[in-house]
Amino acid sequence: ATPMAIMVGTGRGAEQGILFRRGAAFQASAGVNVVVMDKTGTLTVGRPVLTDIEPADGFMADDVLVQAAAVEGRSEHPLAEAIVAAAHARNLGVAEVADFAAVPGYGVQGKVDGEEIVVGARRFLNQLQIMVPRGLHERAAELAKQGRTPLFVAIGGRVAALLAVADPIKEGSKPAINALHSMGLRTVMLTGDDRETADAVARQIGITEVKADVLPADKEAVIGEMQSKGLRVAFVGDGINDAPALARADVGVAVGTGTDVAIEAGDVVIMAGDPRSMARGLSLARRTFRTIR
Ligand code: ADP
Ligand code: MG
Repeated sequence: ATPMAIMVGTGRGAEQGILFRRGAAFQASAGVNVVVMDKTGTLTVGRPVLTDIEPADGFMADDVLVQAAAVEGRSEHPLAEAIVAAAHARNLGVAEVADFAAVPGYGVQGKVDGEEIVVGARRFLNQLQIMVPRGLHERAAELAKQGRTPLFVAIGGRVAALLAVADPIKEGSKPAINALHSMGLRTVMLTGDDRETADAVARQIGITEVKADVLPADKEAVIGEMQSKGLRVAFVGDGINDAPALARADVGVAVGTGTDVAIEAGDVVIMAGDPRSMARGLSLARRTFRTIR
């Protein structure tokens, strides 16, 4: 491609909200053969809502929600925002939190009124050796099959409730995956969600390859492994916990609804967060560079 063609191509991208931040990124985009996408905030809106509260025996839904929201109030995770918003919508009070800690990919914990509160994934409770009652465990699996993310709340070492949060799929996700497939590209969804939730969401979007239960720290390694097999990988993420994966990929595509950190890490920035723009950007790069390949 001539410098002129590259200028025209990147200019056309910019008009559509696709910023190629480095010249090399445009050319690298033309050679990609697999597109790996983070789920939350990339393929889904990233603004989940609380859909279910199922208290364990001896607990009241509102009491559990107050405590869970208190601890989540200190987290910036989209799941945390859903829980805080639900407590707010029910006009529940705000409790004080001490000794707050967030464990990426697992959940959060803190003390409310001297009692230890834990909110997070099943694996977080396992790690803390908190038993999940069989009934709630089965219910969690059912909710996950519908594409919802089940979370557990434990109070003082006992499971107090099962919560479920649903994150709507972006309108552009399915068409974007279709477009990538018709370009002959492989698509993979990467998420910290459990297998059931991840598969249900992937099915709705049309993605057939799913890597679930991937901890934030391991996303980068998944990309590295693909690269070591000779694949040229584009990684698309919103940047919450995935800046290292964006940096590692051959082309890191930051969706613009993400954090500043991610936008810094991205070689390509999708301004309005529409997955279709990502597919358009790759297509634009291919058309521009086809002449020299
Ligand atoms: P994703 O890869 O979908 O962006 P994360 O890696 O950020 O997700 O989180 C993976 C899982 O860890 C979530 O599905 C949830 O079960 C748990 N988790 C992470 N942060 C929180 C939090 N603040 N509150 C409750 N659960 C959390
Ligand atoms: Mg994420």
